[in-house]
Amino acid sequence: MATVFNGLPVAKGIVIGKVHKYYKEEIEVDTYNIEKDDIERELWKLSKARELATIFLNSIKEKAARKLGPEEIKIFQAHLLMLNDPMLNGEIERNVREERINIEAAVQRSIKNIKERLSSIDNNYFQERIKDIQDVGNHLLNALTGNVRSLHSLSQEVIVLAEDLTPSEITLLDNNYLKGFIFSEGGETSHTSILAKSLMVPTIINAKGILEAVQHGETVILDAVKGIIHVRPEQQLIEKYGFRIEEYENYQQKLHTIKHKQAVTRDGYSIKLSANIAAAKNLEDVLAINGDGIGLFRTEFLYFNQEHQPAERDLFNVFKEIAIKMAPRPVVIRTLDIGGDKDLPYLEIPEEMNPFLGWRGIRLTLERIDLLKTQLRAILRASHYGHLKIMFPMVTSIEELRQAQRIVEEVKSALRQAGIPFDPAIKIGIMIEVPSTAIAADLFAREVDFFSIGTNDLIQYALAVDRNNSKIAHLYSPYHPAVLRLIKDVVKAGCKEKIPVSICGEAGADPLLLPLFIAMRVDELSMNVASILETKESVRNLAYQDCRQYLDHVLKLSTGQEVLNYLTKIRKEDKPLL
Ligand code: PEP
Ligand code: MG
Repeated sequence: MATVFNGLPVAKGIVIGKVHKYYKEEIEVDTYNIEKDDIERELWKLSKARELATIFLNSIKEKAARKLGPEEIKIFQAHLLMLNDPMLNGEIERNVREERINIEAAVQRSIKNIKERLSSIDNNYFQERIKDIQDVGNHLLNALTGNVRSLHSLSQEVIVLAEDLTPSEITLLDNNYLKGFIFSEGGETSHTSILAKSLMVPTIINAKGILEAVQHGETVILDAVKGIIHVRPEQQLIEKYGFRIEEYENYQQKLHTIKHKQAVTRDGYSIKLSANIAAAKNLEDVLAINGDGIGLFRTEFLYFNQEHQPAERDLFNVFKEIAIKMAPRPVVIRTLDIGGDKDLPYLEIPEEMNPFLGWRGIRLTLERIDLLKTQLRAILRASHYGHLKIMFPMVTSIEELRQAQRIVEEVKSALRQAGIPFDPAIKIGIMIEVPSTAIAADLFAREVDFFSIGTNDLIQYALAVDRNNSKIAHLYSPYHPAVLRLIKDVVKAGCKEKIPVSICGEAGADPLLLPLFIAMRVDELSMNVASILETKESVRNLAYQDCRQYLDHVLKLSTGQEVLNYLTKIRKEDKPLL
């Protein structure tokens, strides 16, 4: 019997495939006593498991080296060293010999003991090693139990099913084998969802209860258009979905026919549609659909899965490649926005009660000037090769902005003195993603070249709703009148000072909000690549004059639900062009 689960589609598409179930928790094993005569046999199993785990780690190390480069493979080298560590192996052997327990239980118990000892040491380095020792323990247990469900070991096309993944875990996946994601938790604007979108694989989040109901290797239909997952589907349903997939692909092909047309309303109002990217490899997708530029390059993803921050040379090479490939189209490079749900172990960010209200974005880089200057030098040097812009995240005060601008000037003058070319007129803008900056947007507008509204954070901070918390996801609404007023006022402040205003949060790709953004006279919407053509189609189907009326009406409504109902009704009345 097929079983159906519902969830929130965050990256559209329909696929049928086998599930690769990924557990982050410790692997469960049975514990039982062994006879004295069995001790050597158990230890022999350990040495075989070490061999297998070594082969496995070497293979993922090679994959990571091909995909990410020499720096990023250090984590696997560290795991290989730990695998043969005398302390770990001594502890396991002691458990087998003295406690007389089976090898699987001895490995699990030893890992637990070592983790407990590490967690009692008040030092970031040792805290970080806890995760490593668990990973190594899991590799050994996987080898002992024949369970090889690591994320890095995908060897056939699968749909990854997990509670959630961290942004850095996603960056290590082998895209060639990735057909889709199903998460039982997660937020629509979490960085995991954002990355899944940039990989352009169908993704459903918040599919409650699915983890318990699906076994590793079972077949599912992942319908990330409707937000439905069919588990163990019958043949008839698979056949029906074959047609649906074909239909969906035809629609995508039709969308491609408008890629060289402008995003302009029926009555001549045009808006730029740019892409949000997280890596240079996303560029091909942007060029394939003829995006108007890069409205947001989230540079933090260049910093994941490494032992230390990337060198200026490496950053420069990435920025230069993007500048050249996109030229003359603009590319907005956002300086490092780490903190919140994006951790970098080597930065040793102290544990915080409220990471999203803590040491994040520009707050962090203004204290770690080395990080900021390295990035700025790389961006400025690359600006010589194309049309780059600099954008600062999480700005909450004019002081922060001015301090950051001073650092840009310092870096520029050092480059000048060294005779290194850069674009002297490079534009500097800020993300508007905190209420204080949105409310005082008129003050900021006088001091920057552009605004980009980060609705993902603006909503969470304005409504005090954690963007990653599925428990309160129903309260996280871009349709809330307070959010819409903030956005409208920011756009107005930008228009008054004649600086362009873009929207680069996920709301920028929401077809329901599109008429409102057009009516507000937003200059640019920057979004995941997969949404650009669909948004273009919607723009071409709208009339600016109608949008003005919709906005007037919406501004009189009192609740997010009323806004949503009204915008849904408007959208239904639209006649699709394709
Ligand atoms: C935002 O907050 O809307 C944004 C675009 O930045 P991020 O999602 O990376 O926090
Ligand atoms: Mg943000």
